[in-house]
Amino acid sequence: MVNTTERTALDKLPLTKLKGVGAAVAEKLATLGMHNVQDVLFHLPFRYQDRTQLAKIGTLRPGSEAVVSVEVVMADVVFRKRRSLLVRVNDGTGSLMLRFFHFTQQQVKQFTPGTRLQCFGEVRRGPSMLEMVHPEYRLQTQGVTLQKTLTPFYPATEGVQQPTLRKLSDQALDFLEKHSLTDWLPPELLQDFQLPDLVSALRMVHRPTPGADVNALMSGMHPAHRRLALEELIAHRLGLRLLRVQAQRNLAPKIPANSELAIKLQNSLSFTLTGAQQRVLDEVLSNMELGEPMLRLVQGDVGSGKTIVAALAAANAVSAGYQVAFMAPTEILAEQHLLNFSDWFEPLGVPVGWLSGKLRVAQRRSAIEAVAMGQQRIIVGTHALFQNDVEFENLGLAIIDEQHRFGVHQRMALRNKGASESSLPHQLIMTATPIPRTLAMTAYADLDCSIIDELPPGRKPVNTIAMPAARRGDVVAGVAKAIAENRQVYWVCTLIEESESLQAEAAEDTVAMLSELLPGSRVGLVHGRLKPLDKDVIMQQFKSQELDLLVATTVIEVGVDVPNASLMVIENAERLGLSQLHQLRGRVGRGSAQSTCILLYQPPLSQNAKERISIMRKTNDGFVVAQKDLDLRGAGEVLGTRQTGLAEFRIAELGRDSDMLDAVSDISDHLLAYSPKSVKGLIRRWIGEERKDYGGV
Ligand code: ADP
Ligand code: MG
Repeated sequence: MVNTTERTALDKLPLTKLKGVGAAVAEKLATLGMHNVQDVLFHLPFRYQDRTQLAKIGTLRPGSEAVVSVEVVMADVVFRKRRSLLVRVNDGTGSLMLRFFHFTQQQVKQFTPGTRLQCFGEVRRGPSMLEMVHPEYRLQTQGVTLQKTLTPFYPATEGVQQPTLRKLSDQALDFLEKHSLTDWLPPELLQDFQLPDLVSALRMVHRPTPGADVNALMSGMHPAHRRLALEELIAHRLGLRLLRVQAQRNLAPKIPANSELAIKLQNSLSFTLTGAQQRVLDEVLSNMELGEPMLRLVQGDVGSGKTIVAALAAANAVSAGYQVAFMAPTEILAEQHLLNFSDWFEPLGVPVGWLSGKLRVAQRRSAIEAVAMGQQRIIVGTHALFQNDVEFENLGLAIIDEQHRFGVHQRMALRNKGASESSLPHQLIMTATPIPRTLAMTAYADLDCSIIDELPPGRKPVNTIAMPAARRGDVVAGVAKAIAENRQVYWVCTLIEESESLQAEAAEDTVAMLSELLPGSRVGLVHGRLKPLDKDVIMQQFKSQELDLLVATTVIEVGVDVPNASLMVIENAERLGLSQLHQLRGRVGRGSAQSTCILLYQPPLSQNAKERISIMRKTNDGFVVAQKDLDLRGAGEVLGTRQTGLAEFRIAELGRDSDMLDAVSDISDHLLAYSPKSVKGLIRRWIGEERKDYGGV
């Protein structure tokens, strides 16, 4: 390791130490995530040009970029569709046309026959020969000048363009000589993985040597790139681990198990808990008794009965005198929880409050007041619960459903609503998207994990069938038969468009079609554009069997619970991802009847779609589905990282780099045990000091 005593660490050097950077430029660089000289080194190129060698025109291929050294044969201004300047050049191996749409008279004069030029540009097929449109060129007075390394292109912003970014990274690379950038990863380890040391890796990605594997560099698969990604992933995991330790230094409410309220609630249920539910509940309850903040992820396949586990935990928290917040990512799911919780708690004399973004101002104000004053002990809602103006009297337990849709920062905001300065609320995070183990170790390194790995008794696996859309007639006949047998049916319309209004329209058309084909049956419609109250009314009607058939958009994806519904038709199933299909399918198979899910698809199917549909037919196991989903789509998509803090990786990508995750956890554990200094250094480098509270979330 480099001796760090006299030399300034690069993350302590402000950007203004670089030539050409004043306050104004520094501000712009900050928008690109650069705050100090070290950040410049971690701002990586996303593509490269090869200007290190001269190409012969005879060997050029369309689509490539090349430097050529040529002689002007003739230049001509032509007027076809647009006025353009055509300069025909030759290098002895072939001819090439340079085409300019914007040019000056000066330029036209420059290109006298016999003039030697050095040009760089993208090669395209032209009408008569290969062309370069607006190539970079210069008159070649003193021979050819070539670059010593590949030319990088950086993510740029207005006012900070490529030349500036190249000058800055040049300087930052020079600083590596005079200042220190500690390599926190042990050299033996890098050798084991055949990865370069930090400084070599940085030099390579910023200024690749001629002949470097550009494809590998651009796809992030070059060893230099992998090394940086590995380091970042390790830092991230360390951050979560360490901050978990910090969170656990805080106090949390001591919540005794088996309160009277909890026992009453459990006795009021029409079912007994499964072994898995009881085990997970015990894990949760003994965790909450300790007076240390619980950070627990409860995974359980759709229909495994997570909600009642949360409710029983909530009952104990309320009995101990604390408030409980229960959040869900969508209105419809939050409403579902509100209904469940109200059914369970209100007969026992505990009112359940509601806070959603759609409340009217006055309603919202009184809801917030009841929470702040402590009159409301249990409150269910959406992200509205995170808003700054929501304060709890003494929040003791935060329950978060479908965690993967919430951002890390939202979890953090909630955590900061703790019972007091030094006390954090317990957190119970529930997800129906099972997370493969290796991924969980990195993405949720801060959480303990409980798994409900058993479905309530009597559930039969859903029988899944795939059919081409052309057989819609047969499907409708099947729906008619199911309705005649008093079974209820979901018909899910999907569209590739994100637009809720288009989805709603398509759903309306489907309602019209099905009402015509199924005379006498009662058809309802829910979509994202309905008012919550109207949606509620329809869901309620479906639940109480006043409707036979519910046409829905994917808004019913999570949480909706109608045990008598035992047939689901999913249109355009080929367009949906595996996890989403699995979630949708989880709406049936909740009662004791044998359920069926029909995947209607539009042929021809892509290879990937074929695989997805075949997995769905083969298994009902959410963990198998999740693992396959990960293989097919990559981790980012599976976790929904676009909405979580995980998207904040600068270099790593969980999907692309998932093969390193085992190594990430091994190395992290090693560093935690033997190298506290490296742990600190890595966290500071990649996560930053200002984000100390990162890991408690
Ligand atoms: P999920 O884990 O998908 O959130 P829910 O909590 O919505 O599942 O539970 C699904 C359904 O199963 C609900 O109707 C719930 O009341 C019911 N349920 C939960 N636990 C049991 C059980 N042990 N036995 C029978 N039914 C149960
Ligand atoms: Mg649920």
